[in-house]
Amino acid sequence: MGDRVLDGLDDTLRAELAALYRELHAAPELSGAEHGTAAEIAARLRRIDCEVTTGVGGTGVVGLLRNGDGPTVMLRADFDGLPVREQTGLPYASTATGVDPDGKEVSVMHACGHDMHVTCLVGALTVLAGAREGWSGTVLAVFQPAEETATGAQAMVDDGLFERFGRPEVVLGQHVAPYPAGMVGVHAGPAFAATDSLRITMFGRGAHGSRPEAAIDPVVMAAATVLRLQTVVSREIAATETAVVTVGSLQAGTKDNIIPAEAELKVNIRSYTPEVRAAVLAGVERIVRAEAAASGATREPEITPLDRFPALVNDPAAVDRARAALVAVLGERAVVDPGPVTGSEDVGAFGAAAGVPTCYWLFGGTDPAEYARAEAAGRVAQDIPSNHSPHFAPVIEPTLGTGVTALVMVALAWLGGQ
Ligand code: ZN
Ligand code: ZN
Repeated sequence: MGDRVLDGLDDTLRAELAALYRELHAAPELSGAEHGTAAEIAARLRRIDCEVTTGVGGTGVVGLLRNGDGPTVMLRADFDGLPVREQTGLPYASTATGVDPDGKEVSVMHACGHDMHVTCLVGALTVLAGAREGWSGTVLAVFQPAEETATGAQAMVDDGLFERFGRPEVVLGQHVAPYPAGMVGVHAGPAFAATDSLRITMFGRGAHGSRPEAAIDPVVMAAATVLRLQTVVSREIAATETAVVTVGSLQAGTKDNIIPAEAELKVNIRSYTPEVRAAVLAGVERIVRAEAAASGATREPEITPLDRFPALVNDPAAVDRARAALVAVLGERAVVDPGPVTGSEDVGAFGAAAGVPTCYWLFGGTDPAEYARAEAAGRVAQDIPSNHSPHFAPVIEPTLGTGVTALVMVALAWLGGQ
């Protein structure tokens, strides 16, 4: 039955979806400001007989495709862009700009592939709407804004998503990744890392560059802190566990002959378990405070949490069911277990709030021939642009076809009447 449902994914629909993808790609919007994208999604859903609600949790869009008795299955796609200046050279490359939270005008790009997620979900809904005899139940399509700031999923939950539109049996979704297009990767258990971002301000005492005896130098304090932070993962976390501590920003001073009064670090932490997360956070705080003390600082450092994503845990039984559906249509070789990835995703907030299993998988977006060449040269990490790169450019097919197929077939594994 699933195969017949997929008959709707014909050349006409593929061409329409490719056009939609190029349109979305050329017009990305920053997290929380996705008004044009939301309007476009709503217009597409209305064409296929979805009940559409806009403005859920900010710019979120919910589509309900009802088809008689049966389970409710949630399919999720996120739709925000990133402050990145696109350098792909594609004919449909973005030249869009937006205003970031600091009020600065920035270039905007769909550098994480959320435009592909939207296109695939619109495609899957179109296929399912056109083959109602092949399934029964309700598809709850959730188009989520502001994924990159880890706020959109929770905002939709807090706006009464499940009270207003019903509680699903399972939350399903997918992310395009730098794997060969046509492939799908799904991992049971902790699949995406928890993230904690911190802003750390260290206080010294400013003075003339010629008079170190009058200063408490925050540049040296911060530099020592950056080096010592490298020991959190290497010396405090077991070799069998995984964590990342990255100091992505270090700012201090204005001029060579002025010792500044303070320094600011921005730290990004990835972890998979609450125990490791707690240990890393405690280690970072201990080192920051101790380095300030070692420099003779008279004021305690300030540590401010910025973004926070919980770990995304895929339900093993849901993964088994999804994997069987994917293997049946794509073949054993196209479905792999990528292991846990260190990226983060706020999709887990939906399943956690609804108290239902989540299954979130990756699908490849790289030209398979290009990937094979890079792999043969041992240069995948160097040569294949990954998400958030200004060169990230999924090939439209077979990426799009695989993404639509995966959403439809995994949804059908839950929807009744097959
Ligand atoms: Zn991203
Ligand atoms: Zn993303």
